[in-house]
This record gives sequence, C-alpha cells and structure tokens, in this order.
Amino acid sequence: MSTDIRDDTRAGFESLFGREPEGLWSAPGRVNLIGEHTDYNEGFVLPFAIDRRTVVAVGLRDDRTLRVASTIADEVVEIALDDLEPSVLTGWPAYPLGVAWALGEFGADLSAVPGLDLFIDSDVPLGAGLSSSAAIESAVALALDDVWRLGLDRRTLARVGQRAENVAVGAPTGIMDQSASLLGQVDHAVFLDCRSLESDLVPLGLGEAGLAILVIDTGVTHSHATGGYGERRAACERGAAALGVASLRDVSIADLDRARGLLDDVTFRRVRHVVTENQRVLDTVAVLRAEGAAGIGELLDASHRSMRDDFEISVPELDLAVESAVQAGALGARMTGGGFGGAAIALVRLGDLSRVQVAIDNAFGEHAFGQPDTFVVTASQGAERN
Ligand code: ADP
Ligand code: MG
Repeated sequence: MSTDIRDDTRAGFESLFGREPEGLWSAPGRVNLIGEHTDYNEGFVLPFAIDRRTVVAVGLRDDRTLRVASTIADEVVEIALDDLEPSVLTGWPAYPLGVAWALGEFGADLSAVPGLDLFIDSDVPLGAGLSSSAAIESAVALALDDVWRLGLDRRTLARVGQRAENVAVGAPTGIMDQSASLLGQVDHAVFLDCRSLESDLVPLGLGEAGLAILVIDTGVTHSHATGGYGERRAACERGAAALGVASLRDVSIADLDRARGLLDDVTFRRVRHVVTENQRVLDTVAVLRAEGAAGIGELLDASHRSMRDDFEISVPELDLAVESAVQAGALGARMTGGGFGGAAIALVRLGDLSRVQVAIDNAFGEHAFGQPDTFVVTASQGAERN
C-alpha cells in the first residue's frame, strides 16, 4: 500500500472530525485465483489478498454515538449504538455499521462500549469484483475489535463481515472474501474449505517463476444485492435438494451422470459448474505445491469456460478480456468474482505483460467496449493495524 492512502485517511479524519484519530486499520481487497460460487456451496476457494486496501481511521468518543464517513460519499452518517439494527441501515453505511451490529451477534457486549468516529478511504475499485465490500468490512471489524477490546479471532471477524453483508446489506454472499482479506499473507493464497472454515496458506511463487497476475477491470458494474447472484444461489440449493445432499460439496464428479438424469438442464449445468470447480481448486493447489504457478494456466481456462457456459455468469467484456489475453500469450485467464461484470485475471509471463495489455486494449477498441483498466496485483498482507 502506498503511504499516501494512509496519510489521506488520517488527513480526511482530521479535517472532518477536527481531532486526531486513535489509529488506522486497513484491509485488502482480493482476487480469487480459482473457485467461483463454490463458497456458499460449502466447497473450496483459493483467493489471495491484493495490494489494494481500504483504510479506516477511528477515533473514540465519550458518548454512545457512531459516526461514519467515506471518501465515496459526501455525508456523515450518525446513529446511536443502542439503535443499531439491520432494518435501519441502508446504502454504503450498512457495511461499516452492519459490522458494528454483527459484532454483537458474535458475542461482543456492545452495551458499554464507547461511541466512535470512522473515516474510510480506499484504493480498491468498487464493484469491480475485487471485493471492496470485504475490504471495508474487514478493516472495520479489525478496528472495532481493537478499539473496543473484544478479543475476537480473525476467523470470527470474517464471519462478522459476512453477517453484516448478508443481513445488514442484504447481499447473500459467502465467507471467501472476508477470509482472504483477514487471513491473506504476502506471496500466498488462502486455500479455504468453506465447510469446516479451515484454511491453509499456499505459496504462489509468482515472482520467482517470472509470472504476474494481471487484473482486467472491464468497468462493467455488478450488484450482489440484486440480479443473478441470488438466482444462481437458489439454483444450487435446488440442485442439492433434488440430489438429496446438504450442499453441492457432497456431489462428486462421478455423481454427475446420475445428476443429469435427475435435474433439468439449467440446474444440471449450475451443479456441474460447482462440482467441477471444486475439483479445479483442489487440482490448482496440488499443481502450485508440486510445480508452481506456471502449471495452472489450463485450470484457469477451464474455470472460465465453466462459468461462461454452465453457470452463465460471464458477460461479453469478460469473455473478450479472457480470450484476447490468452491469444496474446497469457498462460491462462478467467473471470473472477461473482460475475455479471467486474474483472478478469490473466496469468502472464513478466516479459509478455505489455503485449497482453495492448492486445486487450485493442480488442476492446475493436468491439467498441469502454477501455478496461488493467493492472498487476501482488499477493499481499491481510488486515492489519497501520
Ligand atoms: P465489490 O465487493 O466487488 O467491490 P460490492 O457490490 O460487493 O462490490 O461492494 C461495493 C459496495 O461496498 C459499494 O457500493 C459501497 O456500498 C460499499 N463500499 C465499498 N468500499 C467502500 C468505501 N471505501 N466506502 C464506502 N462504502 C464502500
Ligand atoms: Mg463484494
């Protein structure tokens, strides 16, 4: 993270609230290397924390009021701690204030904690599939846990963020993003079993292999609170119920033949995506450990095809980003995040980076799509006090 954003956050806090903050906390966005829409099916995911962060400056108050402000909005939103409940939270403040509420749901006694002023700044692009939502939740969760001396561990804080997003925001998302943001480490991906919530760090070794992950932000915005995400989730539940399992985690590739006979075509393809994607995550972890990142290109490509054809969550801009990256020499590429817009990632040799970027830009130009924002991300440290 550049020191600028921390300096900006501190300065923003001071000019708005007229005093110095107690401290600064930050949490990163994430890229999901592989494992899409597997989290709420109790499956496997492999995200990593990126070098784009959300920073929150926090000041203690001597009353029981919470005030939040962010550089994305020209307002200060204020609420009494005793009035905190999901039904009164709307818009962006539902993320930070939802976290404050959710801490209480996970056993924190909020009846005696002091009020706070929060100022939030970020260089995670919003709605691009890089999880600015988990970044804000995780930064706020870690900050509040610290200043309120709650002593919750990071796995619990991840669930706090998820609860805030599910209940206060109303977006039915899984636990992956918050886990990456809170548990990520430099040069490692977080291999997460979304059933047991056990996680393992897997070395990525991109730099020493002469590789980089290029993000292609298409600029097509999505919203998790509406649209296809909830519909896909419902299809997975429908599929699991028809197959008589608790979740699609319990369906193996060998079961797919039987599933085809039991499910309608759409539900079957949704199920097949999740089942094969789980296997691809396991394969990716095995390849990373055995031979390093150079060997995972085909798994990334297969993941994209599955999301495009079976889960049907891609959009033309994402398909074009993936196709033009691979054509220009990327070892593999896939859309990342919940879909319906957002970003793709490509695994690219360092020497090919500019060629791939130019090829993508040209392809978008030819299709009269808005120019994408392309940038390299590195696997970075999870949430921390700064
Ligand atoms: P993504 O997580 O892919 O960026 P989401 O739709 O899940 O997209 O989350 C984006 C929303 O999160 C924003 O519309 C806003 O409400 C909230 N948010 C994210 N970052 C910030 C921020 N720095 N300040 C205020 N709200 C934020
Ligand atoms: Mg999000």
